[in-house]
Parts: sequence; structure tokens; C-alpha cells
Amino acid sequence: MLLILNCLIEEKSVNDFNKAMAKHLEDLPVEYDIFRVRDAKSIPDLSKYTHLIISGSGASTLDDNSWDEDLKNIILHFVKNQKAILGICYGHQFLVKTLLGVEHIRKTANPEIGFAKIDIADNELFKGIDAPICCVAHYDEVFDLNEDFRVIARNRNCSVHAFQYKDLPIWGTQFHPEYGVKDVEDMGDEFSKEDPKFKEHFINELDNRDKLFQNKLIFRNFINSSKIHLRPHHLLCIQSYIGKGYSEEFVENMDTVVRSLRENKDQIIRIIEGNDHVCKYCPHNIDGAKCESDEKVITMDKKVLEHLEIAPGEYTYSYLLERLKEKLTEEAFQDICGDCEWYDLCH
Ligand code: SF4
Repeated sequence: MLLILNCLIEEKSVNDFNKAMAKHLEDLPVEYDIFRVRDAKSIPDLSKYTHLIISGSGASTLDDNSWDEDLKNIILHFVKNQKAILGICYGHQFLVKTLLGVEHIRKTANPEIGFAKIDIADNELFKGIDAPICCVAHYDEVFDLNEDFRVIARNRNCSVHAFQYKDLPIWGTQFHPEYGVKDVEDMGDEFSKEDPKFKEHFINELDNRDKLFQNKLIFRNFINSSKIHLRPHHLLCIQSYIGKGYSEEFVENMDTVVRSLRENKDQIIRIIEGNDHVCKYCPHNIDGAKCESDEKVITMDKKVLEHLEIAPGEYTYSYLLERLKEKLTEEAFQDICGDCEWYDLCH
């Protein structure tokens, strides 16, 4: 379930953003709620949401606004639970304000309004997208980010047009993937009234209108981003997990993974070979690539695949639970977990 926070101020802008989002989301398998950010306090239950989109705004992140504390708390809830976030323009800057500090936001020397070519890096958010051209409309920008923020897009006017936070499904885009030609025309009318230097700031690099269609993929990629990656034997560990593990950080991460699976049996799981979401905060994880007990855990992984008769790939959690129910006999359990140090706890 997706939560969209609309931070725009003027009624027309609020409605235009809602319409743009409805168009991008209509073909995607996701339900969503939209709230005005000023009403964020009244959102009844954050735990039901798996994804968060924070819109652009006529307000500046350099100012304090009445909703700041509520928005900050919502972001921290999503980050703590490793749920997916996409911040757009104001939302992109507000992520930096919350996770790093307002001192990393400034007035930009190169405001840009219109359509700009964006240079992108290889990243899950941009899967299927080639040389994008996107709506841009900003007078502020983020800068001097630390190593927690990987810069994944830039152009000649803006050195951080997009970032990914840590390795989490958390992204910010300074550009607007949601807006098309009519939106930019309307924006131009609005900005030209208030900005005496509007003509200097206007940019139009839209030499191929078809390019705008591919921006829809950013939303598809974002919605698909919260797949949980699991190595096969962790499917079994999850079943008997009681809050014990290799370190405090490990337990905190495992709590999140287990809770989200118990709450959502339709969660898509990608069964992978090698280190996964559970390994991420494990002290035995070597550089994210190997386990200190690689030989032992790879053998367990192989046995799980054999007994459940599945291959690496994507499944719903409910399907995998069915496979466990059907195939995990006492003999299979002994075969897979007989030599595991946690055996007594799970058995
Ligand atoms: S790194 Fe090794 S010990 Fe740690 S969770 Fe992954 S498989 Fe288990």
C-alpha cells in the first residue's frame, strides 16, 4: 500500500499533482492513499503502508513549515522499517533535511525550470530508462552529501539530481518524473509571474517527446523495489525466529524482515544465491558478498531448494509458506538444519 504526501500549496497545483500521479499509477498493481502534508498528523496507521512518495512544493525546505515535524516522523518511520521512499524535488530535499541536516540545502546558483536532459547512473530506479529528459523546477538544491547518499543522477545545472540512501529502497529526485508537457506549460505561466529572471532560468531540452513516456518506469521500478531478497535457508530461520541473533543490529534488522512478512503474506520475495537482506547487518557478513561460514550455509541453501523443489526467482511469501507446509517433513528438516548452531532453538 502506497502513501502519497502532497506538499503543494495552491489548489490547482495540488490537483495537477494528484492527477499526474493517478495516471502514472493506473497500470501498476498498487493501492494508494493521498494526504495533504498539512494533514499528515491525521494519518491513522502508518504500519499499513509499504511505500511513501513525497511530492514537490511551492514551499522551501530552507524555511520551517508547520508540517515539518510530522513529515520528519513519517520519514523516520519508513527508514527505520526499511520501507520504500521516493522524494520528489521538495521531497528529495526534505529527505536530506531529515537524514543529514538542513545545512546541506542551499539556494541554487542555477535555477532551472522546464525540461532538462539528465545523466543517470546504473541504478534499480532507472531500470529500462535511457537518456531521460525530465521536468525540472527548482530554486533550491542539496549539496555536499555524505557517503550514505549515492549520487545517481546529475546534469550541468545540478550536481545531485537524484540519490539513493544507503542501499535501501530510498531515493530522492530533484527532477520531476511525474510531469508532462501541459504541466510544464502551466508551471511556466505561474513562475513567470513571480520570477523576473524567469527567461534566464527557462530551459527546454525536450527534443524528443517520446522520451517522457519512459519516465513512467521510475514509478514502476519504485513500486517493485520493496521485494525482499532471501537466501533459501533463511526462509526456515524466519519461521522459528524469536528475537535472537548474532548482534543487536542483526536482531533489529531481522525483526523488521520478519514483521513485514508476517504482516504481508503477499510480499514478493526474490530467492537468491548468496547474501541477502538478513545477512545485511550480520557480523559474519564479509563485505556484503560472502558469509564467514559460506560452505556450510551454501549447502543448507541448496538443500532447501531441493526439498522445496524451487529455483532462485520471485515468489509470493504465501506461496513459499505453502511449499514449506507441503515439503518440509521432519526428515527434510533434519537434513537441512541438523548441523546448525540454532538447531535446538528451532526444533
Ligand atoms: S552472513 Fe552468514 S551467518 Fe550471517 S545471516 Fe548471512 S548466512 Fe547467516
